[in-house]
Amino acid sequence: MMEEQKQARPRLIVASNNRNKLREFAAILGHRFDIVSMRDAGIEADIEENGATFEENALIKARYVMDATGCAAIADDSGLEVDALGGEPGVYSARYCGRHGDDEANNDLLLKNLADVPAPRTGRYVAAIALVRPGHDPIVGRGTCDGEILEQRRGHGGFGYDPLFLCETGETFAEVSAETKNAISHRRRGIEAVLAALEAEA
Ligand code: IMP
Repeated sequence: MMEEQKQARPRLIVASNNRNKLREFAAILGHRFDIVSMRDAGIEADIEENGATFEENALIKARYVMDATGCAAIADDSGLEVDALGGEPGVYSARYCGRHGDDEANNDLLLKNLADVPAPRTGRYVAAIALVRPGHDPIVGRGTCDGEILEQRRGHGGFGYDPLFLCETGETFAEVSAETKNAISHRRRGIEAVLAALEAEA
């Protein structure tokens, strides 16, 4: 057997309990790393995301998990930036309506705030990905995915703002397959940026 085939994949804890995000991380990185959720690593904490940027918040989450476990950790902080709203909801995407993670209310508020804005209502998903490893400098990558905000929800897949987010295929992120989303998403692109920096280290 080849030497690299005998080596176990390194353990990497994803600093999230969002099942959708975990699934996306596992689909993109599972061949290279043994992906472990925060909960499976024994961490139940709700980490306070008080950074001003996606990058700061991703680093806060990844460092928290590394400090608690001594293991390498990866985190994303992501959100939707809408041009007509000056980049809102941005880092507040998960709690835009005032409650954390209420996707329906967040989408309703987004539609309300865009009610007077004619199409195309351009914007993008943004993801900052932070990889931290004991004894190494952190690596932070950013990925974006351009799209438009529709006037009505379409599709039943995905999560968050996906039913309103028209992507480059002409479908919403709630209509595309998981494979398509994972091929073009902001998270995919941010993770690729981190992997490229990791390769450049070797
Ligand atoms: P985070 O968990 O603090 O990074 O918050 C991310 C928030 O941004 C989510 O709760 C969603 O509202 C939004 N978001 C980020 N990525 C996506 C996505 O891929 N689809 C839909 N919404 C997303």
